[in-house]
Parts: sequence; C-alpha cells; structure tokens
Amino acid sequence: MSATTALQARFEAALMPNYGTPPIALARGEGNHVWDVEGRRYLDLIAGIAVSTLGHGHPALVKAVTEQVATLAHTSNLFLHEREVELAERLLGLLGAQARVFFANSGTEANEAALKLVKRAAGPGRDHIVSTVASFHGRTSGALAITGKAAIRDPFGPFGMDVRFVPYGDGDALREAVDDSTIAVFVEPTQGEAGIVTPPAGYLADVREVCDATGAAFVLDEIQSGVGRTGHWFAHQAAGVLPDVLTLAKGLAGGLPIGACVGFGRYGEAFAKGDHGSTFGGNPVAAAAALAVLDTIERADLLTNAARTGELLAAGVEEVADPLLLGVRGTGLWRALLLAEPAAVEVQSAAARHGFLVNAVAPDIVRVAPPLTITPGEVEGFVRALPAILQEAGGGGQDG
Ligand SMILES: *Cc1c(COP(=O)(O)O)cnc(C)c1O
Repeated sequence: MSATTALQARFEAALMPNYGTPPIALARGEGNHVWDVEGRRYLDLIAGIAVSTLGHGHPALVKAVTEQVATLAHTSNLFLHEREVELAERLLGLLGAQARVFFANSGTEANEAALKLVKRAAGPGRDHIVSTVASFHGRTSGALAITGKAAIRDPFGPFGMDVRFVPYGDGDALREAVDDSTIAVFVEPTQGEAGIVTPPAGYLADVREVCDATGAAFVLDEIQSGVGRTGHWFAHQAAGVLPDVLTLAKGLAGGLPIGACVGFGRYGEAFAKGDHGSTFGGNPVAAAAALAVLDTIERADLLTNAARTGELLAAGVEEVADPLLLGVRGTGLWRALLLAEPAAVEVQSAAARHGFLVNAVAPDIVRVAPPLTITPGEVEGFVRALPAILQEAGGGGQDG
C-alpha cells in the first residue's frame, strides 16, 4: 500500500465525507513547489485555492509568524494588541478611503459580518438582499443564503432571509431587482467559484449606480480576487469603483486563517458596541502573517509580477492548439482554461502526472491561480507541458 493510499484510508475512517477523498497527499512545500507523500514534486498552480500568496515557506512569512507565535499567540478581543491595529491601518492605506475594519477567520465569516453590518445600517422598510446567480459567498447559513450556486444552497434552506438572485453581469436585471426596499447587493468583481467568470466592462459601475439611486448597500466580495491576484491590490481599484462594504480573506495572510470586513464611510460606523464579535478574529499570528504578505507584495513588486506573468500565461495558453482547449479567460494570475468537453477532472489528473497542480473548478473549466511569486520560467514550463497534458486528458483529441 502506498503512503497516499494508507493516508486516504485513515482520512475516510476519521473525517466526514463532505470533501470526497483527495487524490494527492501533500507533505511539504518550498517556494512555488510542493511535494507529495510519495516524494513527487509539483509546481503549485492553485496555491490552496488562491491562498498561498507568497508560495510556501517564504522567509518573510516564516519570520513574522514564528516571532509572533513566540511573543504572543492570542489575546481575544478583551485586550488590544498592536498587530491587529497595524494591519487595519495598512489595509486602510491600501484602500485609500475613509473606512473601518472588522477581522474574522475566514471568507464566510467576513460575509456574515457584512450581512449583519448592512442590516444594522439599513433604514426602515428594507427587507431583502439581492445576489447573483452562480455566485459563491461561503458555506455558513447566512453566507450560503446569499450564494447563487443552487446545488450547494438548496439542500440547506430555508434560511429565513429574503434573497433574490439576478443573472451575473447584467446591469438591467439589477436595475429591475433593486429598489428602496433592498438592504444590500452582494457581488463578486469576477465570479471565482463559478469558473472565473468576468462580467462586461462597466458592471461594477452599474452596481454602484443602482445602489446610489436606491440607497441599497453595495457589498463587494473580494475574498478570492483581492490582495494582488488580479495584478491590482483589489479588483475594484481597476474598475474605479468603491463599494460600501468590502470582504477579504483567502490570500490576505498567505495561508493562515483570516477574514476581513471593511466598511466605508457610514458603513464603518454601523456596528454599535456588542453588535458583533469573534474570539479568534484579529488574532496576532494571523495579523502578523498578513502584514508580512502585504509588505512582501509591495517590496517584491508582486502586483507587477501578477500582471506580467499572468499575461505571459494567457498568451502561452492561447498559442496551444488542441481540440479540447477553447481558450483562456481571467485577469492577472487568476485564469480559467475553457474546455470543449467536461474533461476538467481529466486535465487536472494529467497535469498532476506531469508535475503541475491545477484545479477542476467546473466540469469544463480548469482554474489556474498560482502564488504571486510564480516566475515567468515556471509559467513557461507549464505552457510547454500543456499540449501533452491536453492530449492525455482528451484521449488523443478524437474530436479534431
Ligand atoms: C472562498 C470564497 C468564500 C468563502 O471563504 P471561506 O474562507 O472558504 O469561508 C467567499 N466568497 C468568495 C468569493 C470565495 O472565493
């Protein structure tokens, strides 16, 4: 029995079956590579779902986390500590607008905070939330209620919340659905879990306009898109649109659990004392990790790397001619390979056999979201291997 098979058997006996059993067991990581328990090396092109911003074992992250855990690992919110304040100040500086921050431990919790915040801020007569079809906002009951992926939402309702779903990217549908009884509109700048679905240009400006006209809060979920992934600190900055509430998580602390809910203007003041809380939120170790991530992105100019290396990846993929590959979409280091058939799982497996970790985000869509530290040479290595990967996955391209 291989080390992987043995661990899979123990996993199945001890853990709930909600994930299914992963095919690969990882043992360690270094730079942009990880090794499995069999000793095989992979180029990490998924970064733990757009989380490992600095790759693995980055010296700045290791130093920040080890020093902080040795100094003070936890305080709870009964006590102040400087790292949390420093991180909030740093985020406000990057956002360049008057705002306040609440820290949580995950994306779903950041959206739960946003949900409570917009309810607190809403005037009388507002009774429903507008969200988008196929969106993903998290797995707890509040975040799931506003998630537009019916397959994961429907088995767990009703949620006791009036949520209306409009087609993503459709400004007219939004104008129709949002009125002065809408509490908030929740939207992603690009739908990540739906398969990196980018809306038409001007969509975020449409959301801003509809919310301004009706007084509904504009909540932008940048949990996957934020912190450099698109080649900008935050995706909304490229669109020139400021939301009322912004949620962050995934890449913010480079692998440590964190979530953040940012309220701009009056939304930063909407919670009264006692309205919300978290035992672990703003944890010193997670805050120190996030500070190291933000400092390193700045110092190593990883925004430029994300933009340039992302373009190189897209251009390289576009040159690959295989009947299975329809094209590539996305921004920065956040890309989707679009397939002509539902063979994403086969592409994911073939890529792993060639030493690359990618993700079958949908039956016919493969997601690539590497660390922001990925190099042009590493991306070129993947592009060179792609024809063979597609050939194996497509069974030799019988369609062509
Ligand atoms: C991953 C994700 C979430 C949920 O974050 P968790 O940390 O898994 O709770 C919410 N919104 C978006 C856009 C995400 O990509």
